[in-house]
Amino acid sequence: MTAQGTVKNGRLFVISGPSGCGKSTLCREILRRTEARLSISATTRPRSKNETDGVDYYFLSEKEFKDKIDADEFLEYAQVFENYYGTPAQPVMEKLKDGQTIILEIDVQGAIQVFSRFPETIGILVLPPNREILQQRISRRGRDDEDTIRKRLTKAEWEIEQAKSSKNFKYMVVNDDLDEAIEKMVQIIE
Ligand code: 5GP
Repeated sequence: MTAQGTVKNGRLFVISGPSGCGKSTLCREILRRTEARLSISATTRPRSKNETDGVDYYFLSEKEFKDKIDADEFLEYAQVFENYYGTPAQPVMEKLKDGQTIILEIDVQGAIQVFSRFPETIGILVLPPNREILQQRISRRGRDDEDTIRKRLTKAEWEIEQAKSSKNFKYMVVNDDLDEAIEKMVQIIE
């Protein structure tokens, strides 16, 4: 997937935002309330016990992931902390051709790659109300140690800066009140 292309019939959305801003919860609700479908990413990060291979992610070894990079199977990919994440191109392209609305829930590095290939992609940036709340949300997930929390916060600030300077992120949704944020996202997608 090296050539710049156009999205045929369906519409392509990218939802990005720092970890801990509530993207996953928002995406789950959007899937319930709209016809949009979420692309399933591949990752080399270990599966956590409440995740299912092929549903939440395709969990791959680093070798498997790199083979797919070499075979040009990703629409975009990025290294997020020490793991790789990527969007398998084929299912997305097929669904778009079929007229479906597709959502990629990916990080900002990946979003920028998608925008340069498909300039008509609509980006939605989900933001936390403020830095303190973001810090609390990241810590409360209980998934990360102090050092990782610090890294996530630094990356979050970098991502927000990057995203704000990209014209494809047409919408910014502050996830303060969850119901309001869901409502706003559904309106944008519909
Ligand atoms: P998590 O490990 O918490 O599920 O995801 C970590 C980060 O990777 C999140 O910001 C998520 O949006 C991002 N991510 C998930 N899938 C992809 C993907 O296919 N490509 C890119 N670039 N980022 C992804």
